[in-house]
Amino acid sequence: MKTADVQKLYAEYVLPTYTHLPVCLVKGKGSRVWDIEGKEYIDFFPGWAVSGLGHCPPSVSSAIKHQVNKMIHISNNYLNCKQAQLAAMISKCSFPSKAFFCNSGAEAIESAIKFARRYGKEHGKYEIITMEQSFHGRTLAALTATGQLKYQDGFDPLPQGFKYVKFNSIAALKETITPQTAAIILEPIQGEGGINVVSKEYIEAVKRICSKEKLLLIFDEVQTGMGRTGKMFAYQHFGIEPDLMTLAKSLGGGVPIGALVVNKKLKNYLPPGTHASTFGGNPLVTTAALAVFKTIKKNKLLKNAQEMGNYLHTKLFKLKEKYGFIKEIRGIGLMIGVECTKEGKGIVERCMEKGLLINCTQNTVLRIMPAITVNKTLINRAIRILDEAMQETI
Ligand SMILES: *Cc1c(COP(=O)(O)O)cnc(C)c1O
Repeated sequence: MKTADVQKLYAEYVLPTYTHLPVCLVKGKGSRVWDIEGKEYIDFFPGWAVSGLGHCPPSVSSAIKHQVNKMIHISNNYLNCKQAQLAAMISKCSFPSKAFFCNSGAEAIESAIKFARRYGKEHGKYEIITMEQSFHGRTLAALTATGQLKYQDGFDPLPQGFKYVKFNSIAALKETITPQTAAIILEPIQGEGGINVVSKEYIEAVKRICSKEKLLLIFDEVQTGMGRTGKMFAYQHFGIEPDLMTLAKSLGGGVPIGALVVNKKLKNYLPPGTHASTFGGNPLVTTAALAVFKTIKKNKLLKNAQEMGNYLHTKLFKLKEKYGFIKEIRGIGLMIGVECTKEGKGIVERCMEKGLLINCTQNTVLRIMPAITVNKTLINRAIRILDEAMQETI
């Protein structure tokens, strides 16, 4: 098969909900991937932030291989030792918590919304406040929580009870809270929204307000979690804890798994029978996620994410001095946005031709999120390509 053959099958049989780059990737190892014609690329946006440890991390692949011959799936009305161990691991790495497992970020958000509705009901509240420019997924409730009209267009009537406020504005939040408000959802760093980092002042104020008004504070760490920012979870940069946290993307090192993580001090507002997921947290995916946590610890990948993040930031700042169209560089650790004064599409395409995969979001923000296993040699090579691509698009 060649790329053109694959494109033909897509045109015939795959519902075109995505726009595709004309590249068919068939093999990956660490931060490198190969297309069906054998061309090699450096992948600095691996799997849309899913392959956080790079492609086919050996420890995760071998854990999966072992598990796949033992037990792939059991239903959630039996006990699953891997799921229990993973929940304990998440709690140990975050805050005293209990977890519910599902298969994606949107489902984790959906679970958080259902939890918040039940919590609210008991306190006579129902409204959920989310941030403008946020992104929380594509199910009906998750896209309603998403504070961007383009994702909601044409899908009305949408679920009720959502309000949107300007990100990082304490005044806007205070104005929007009513006696009906039950919860606030935010990403510590907005990913799809353009790598917008929450300010320390804001997140502290939100925490204070939530405690005072008895609102649930929900952090969506689907993109920021699992070491991406140099801490296991991004909220850990700010010295405060959420009530609920959602995880997915790189949690499973590539296999589909999501989680809702609930602070132990909260009552369980989702008692038996109120919520479920058939595939949620099955032995295969929880084994993979356990291997991800162990690998992050064993290989000191949080430290690597910090160091490589600093290195990459420094290199990007040098490009900013060189190119007037680079307006701002934002982010923490290896979650980086390069905002340009022009469209980023041309640069992304040039990079791809030259063998570097990056992303562009919100039209003008280049999103660069290499695996947290990345090293200086790869960063140097990527920067050289990015530099060339930028030069050619002036
Ligand atoms: C990707 C993403 C989601 C949705 O995850 P899916 O697995 O695509 O459903 C939710 N929240 C954030 C912050 C994300 O980046």
